[in-house]
Amino acid sequence: SKFESLGLNESLLAAINDLGFENPSEVQEKAIPILLEGETDLVALAQTGTGKTAAFGFPLIQKIELNSRTTQGLILSPTRELCLQITNEMKLYSKYEKGMNIVAIYGGASITDQARQIKKGAQIVVATPGRMKDMINRGIVDISKIDYCILDEADEMLNMGFFEDIKDILSNTPKEKSTWLFSATMPKEVSTIAKKFMHSPQEITV
Ligand code: AMP
Repeated sequence: SKFESLGLNESLLAAINDLGFENPSEVQEKAIPILLEGETDLVALAQTGTGKTAAFGFPLIQKIELNSRTTQGLILSPTRELCLQITNEMKLYSKYEKGMNIVAIYGGASITDQARQIKKGAQIVVATPGRMKDMINRGIVDISKIDYCILDEADEMLNMGFFEDIKDILSNTPKEKSTWLFSATMPKEVSTIAKKFMHSPQEITV
């Protein structure tokens, strides 16, 4: 399939086949080769419904070291609904990755339950900013060794007033990592985040 030519591995291709995805969407076609190829920062202008979850999700899944239980990837998203939606999609995409553990962290639910899931070791954490910051401050989640940080719907997160939380969270991540920012629009606050926390990002627009 056309997904094969993007460089995705067998287990992802099998999951994609199970999902019935026939062709990559435009954002997937543009982002996946860039993200798979090297350690680079990326700014992607893309609306919801364009398949952007898989555009960052497939490369992230492929890059995770499954022999380790260390948290390697963090996905920040604006709402609990989106957080759960991304988590569900990511679990479907990674169904053939043995030992993959993806945990959702969001407000309005038991912090004890989420802490218990984190304790088991999650290579990928999908979180809303407020709860994420809370769990970092309580020493429950360690993101000091992540390799990949994804900011999904960055404009929405900033609209919702998460600027300070995002800055605090990013300051707990290592300098050496790749940051992938997805946003439908590019207001000043989003470019401020990009300038402050990203290094010569590649840019794509769909
Ligand atoms: P998203 O923009 O990530 O919220 O994705 C929108 C919907 O499109 C989700 O239900 C995905 O499962 C689906 N989807 C993502 N990529 C593809 C694809 N290449 N072909 C068909 N459906 C897709």
